[in-house]
Amino acid sequence: MELFWQAVVHARATLMEMKDGVGPEPTADVRSLERLKAAAEELLSKAAVAKSRAELFPEEGKITRDEILSRKWTWDELERAVKGCKKCKHLVCYRTQVVFGTGNREARLMFVGEAPGADEDRLGEPFVGKAGELLTKMIQAMGLRREEVYIGNVLKCRPDMPPGESGNRKPRIEEMRECLPWLVAQIRLVRPEVMVALGATAAEGLLGRNEPMKELRGRWFEFEGIPVVVTYHPAYLLRNPSLQEKRKVWEDLLAVMERMKMPISQKQRDYFLPKKD
Ligand code: SF4
Repeated sequence: MELFWQAVVHARATLMEMKDGVGPEPTADVRSLERLKAAAEELLSKAAVAKSRAELFPEEGKITRDEILSRKWTWDELERAVKGCKKCKHLVCYRTQVVFGTGNREARLMFVGEAPGADEDRLGEPFVGKAGELLTKMIQAMGLRREEVYIGNVLKCRPDMPPGESGNRKPRIEEMRECLPWLVAQIRLVRPEVMVALGATAAEGLLGRNEPMKELRGRWFEFEGIPVVVTYHPAYLLRNPSLQEKRKVWEDLLAVMERMKMPISQKQRDYFLPKKD
């Protein structure tokens, strides 16, 4: 069924392309029909492989929440299981790939976002693209390298968009609930000293708190005994790049650095403060 929908998506994209520039009636040219045929053949061969896998491993991708939470995972087993997960049919049809998580698997600090967007879905890594670049700069401002922290999302598959619409949408709470056990398994393996939830949606998915950011910031929460701070998603700073908003995020990160007993220079303490005359 999943491959059927993939075929529909391929066919639709090709038909839209045929329609572009030739008026309201779709008109096929030889090249576009050849591409459609090639896509169908590829999907049919994948379907044959998938069918034989399904016969060999009927339970693959259907693991329950309790099974995920009670099992003692190794990283390899967990990564394989998450990448084969098929619990959300609508997302399995839509995703290019599962975005597992990246970084130091023994990190002291872990960042949690809400879900992959189009860039992450394409590249298979959380926080790439412009928001990802900004997160990397924030990590560097703390005196760390991106590879030293662990970065993951509550939802591992890109939220689907209505046909013909581009862009990204926020994950729904029921989608995040379904996927959260995978993140819990990752957190239990990393055992970071501190976690940072990036944005109110990530905070809702991780902590179950549906509150505006002004209520969430400046407080310490706990998840499985690990202190958690909530700050703005880097995408928010891209939309609101004032010194004042940057300073708010920076103060949240300074609180994290203090909690982790990281060295903080005076220069770091003064980042994004208005310049004195
Ligand atoms: S979003 Fe999470 S639970 Fe749903 S299919 Fe993807 S990995 Fe599985």
